[in-house]
Amino acid sequence: MTPLATQLKAEIEASGPISVERYMTACAAHYYATRDPFGDGGDFTTAPEISQMFGELIGAWLADIWQRAGSPERVNLVELGPGRGTLMADLLRAAATLPPFANALSVHFVETSPILRASQSRLVPDATFHDDLAGVTGGVPMLLVANEFFDALPIAQWVGTNDGWKTRVVNCQDDAFVFEDGDTAAIAPPCTVGAIVEHSPAAARIVKSIGERLAKDGGAALIIDYGYAEPATTETLQALAGHKPVHPLDTPGEADLTAHVNFTALATAARAGGAEPSKLTSQGAFLAALGITQRAEMLSRNIDPAKRHLVTSAMRRLIAPQAMGELFKVMALRSPDWPEPAGIAT
Ligand code: SAH
Repeated sequence: MTPLATQLKAEIEASGPISVERYMTACAAHYYATRDPFGDGGDFTTAPEISQMFGELIGAWLADIWQRAGSPERVNLVELGPGRGTLMADLLRAAATLPPFANALSVHFVETSPILRASQSRLVPDATFHDDLAGVTGGVPMLLVANEFFDALPIAQWVGTNDGWKTRVVNCQDDAFVFEDGDTAAIAPPCTVGAIVEHSPAAARIVKSIGERLAKDGGAALIIDYGYAEPATTETLQALAGHKPVHPLDTPGEADLTAHVNFTALATAARAGGAEPSKLTSQGAFLAALGITQRAEMLSRNIDPAKRHLVTSAMRRLIAPQAMGELFKVMALRSPDWPEPAGIAT
């Protein structure tokens, strides 16, 4: 059994089965606190780790909306769950080509993992760390970026049974964890036997607080993740270890546990906070609109010809529909008095 499995088993023996939400919360906290999970030797690879172009284009997106908002003198640049800090480092390098923008920025990282905080401060020494967005002092406009952050947040699940919706729980039998139907739950959609409905209260709470901050201080946010616009009735909870799918209950705290992001729920939460959500755009369309092809050509001109194919293959991985281009989606939020974001069809 993994160290967390032993702990969860004791918890279940003491007070009964735990909710999927509790299980995922415990797994994510243990998982991220104990490793750097990224890249070939880890469990999964994210867009900023694939190519510097990803962060650079996001830097250009931020500079553009900042300029069109009247170039405010001071800005809080916040990243949620910055991983190794790669996206921010690439973004700041792009921002440095527009000194008034670069000089306006105070960089804030919302990150709970001590190990990842250490790599982030190596790449971005000037960043200030926070446990949550509430720790970032407001009063100036905020630009916020979150890439593959919301998929890591805990979800609750409900299962459709002959007796109506039940909360899905995790039990422990003979040292193995199993899903079971828990208490009856009063949720809105009509119940279909076998359906699974997911919701992330943590994601909704955080996006609402982003919305409130944008409404109060001005600014814009960019949320990029895999997910869907239409609430699904099938399970999206998944686990990856060593780049391969594993059962989410097999190795608690040792595999990357994620769920697809419900962008409709995020848009609703953003509006409740007072911000304007954009339409949902695919990552492929977004990066193409921001000029990834031109950026790749420029990069290629400046590197060893033998390595040019790497730039092209990284670009394809980010934008091709059969790679990350369609599964990953982009949604921008803005303060009602900030301009429309670039790269997203309205
Ligand atoms: N954005 C990065 C990393 C994505 S992985 C990239 O694209 O490479 C998820 C990140 O969110 C990690 O940095 C993880 O430590 C952090 N994280 C997960 N749950 C969190 C929480 N509840 N609060 C703050 N950070 C969290």
